[in-house]
Amino acid sequence: MRLVIMGTPGAGKGTQAGLLAARTGACHISTGDVLRDAVRRGSPFGREAQRHMERGRLVPDDVVIGIVAERLAGGKCKRGFLLDGFPRTVAQARALDEMLAGRGEPLDAALVISVPRDEVVRRVAGRRVCAACGAVSDVGAEPAHTEGCQGTLVQRDDDREETVRHRLDVYARETAGVLEHYRHAGLLREVDGSGTRKEVSRRIEAALR
Ligand code: AMP
Repeated sequence: MRLVIMGTPGAGKGTQAGLLAARTGACHISTGDVLRDAVRRGSPFGREAQRHMERGRLVPDDVVIGIVAERLAGGKCKRGFLLDGFPRTVAQARALDEMLAGRGEPLDAALVISVPRDEVVRRVAGRRVCAACGAVSDVGAEPAHTEGCQGTLVQRDDDREETVRHRLDVYARETAGVLEHYRHAGLLREVDGSGTRKEVSRRIEAALR
């Protein structure tokens, strides 16, 4: 399975990509996770990305395109891939088309998960991440950790309410063109992201059938 998964912050992209990866064996590539990991490690690249992320702005195209190209070429995606949070601009979508054409591996679909704006702000303001392992705990759910980790749960810098509202504006502005790109290619599948994880995951299965 070769899939792009789009949606606003808090739409459930990461959760649903994780479930699909577990079910299909495809590799889950989240540009947001790769960038946050670089920020946690404090590398020069991470510090540069952080300047954009903490303001809710997009990281430059060449940086994220480089991340995805490296992951896809890494040989770990033999059973396909799920791109979570990429592409977010038309330039990224075109770069991905070129990469995949070069590999002879076209996309199966571009999935968009949609959730009303107020629900997104509520979900994102309530979610917490582990400062050590980066696992995400949803609002009202049990704390999540990768095995053996007992790190502290904190709010992501970019999950504060005013930053979320800004990220939603950026999404609407930048990503509309990406949706059009995939609609034009006949690849777009739109799914309602409200309700439980299970309900959304059933809708996704139906949309991909
Ligand atoms: P996410 O976890 O996907 O919501 O991403 C968190 C932040 O990482 C975004 O608000 C951006 O600052 C940055 N980011 C993640 N993916 C991309 C991308 N494809 N293009 C540009 N910036 C990105």
